[in-house]
Parts: sequence; C-alpha cells; structure tokens
Amino acid sequence: MRCINCGAEARRIDPASEGVELVCPECGRFCVSDSVMRHRKSQAFDIEQTRIWLHREREINPDRCPQINSENVIWANR
Ligand SMILES: [Zn+2]
Repeated sequence: MRCINCGAEARRIDPASEGVELVCPECGRFCVSDSVMRHRKSQAFDIEQTRIWLHREREINPDRCPQINSENVIWANR
C-alpha cells in the first residue's frame, strides 16, 4: 500500500489493535486509527510535521508503535 503520510511505497502489517499499521521506508513504522483513516479521505497529513512527531514518539516510547489518532493528528494546511 501507499504510505498514509507521504505516499511512498509502504508495507502494511497486521495491526495490534484497531486501525492500520504500516512500515514506510521514509516515515518508519506507525499506526493510524480508524477515525483518522475516515477523515483522511478529504484531508492530507502535514508530511514533515508528522515525521517529526513520529520520531519524537519513538524516542519517548521506543517499545511502542506510535499511533496517529484524532487527538494528535497533524493535518496539512489547505
Ligand atoms: Zn511515508
């Protein structure tokens, strides 16, 4: 599948919980909740800000796959 953040060719893996989990060569491994997946049809992520956020989350919680959900999602300005 295409990376939900940047559109690069990414590998989808079975999510540990709800939503989508994938590994992107550019963004790394992350999860996206079902609610964000629904909103994503009309909006795109801020690619750079989302990568920075993912990087920070991995530093805080190295053992956990960071999940983008409706509380922390960074939408691109339209
Ligand atoms: Zn990506």
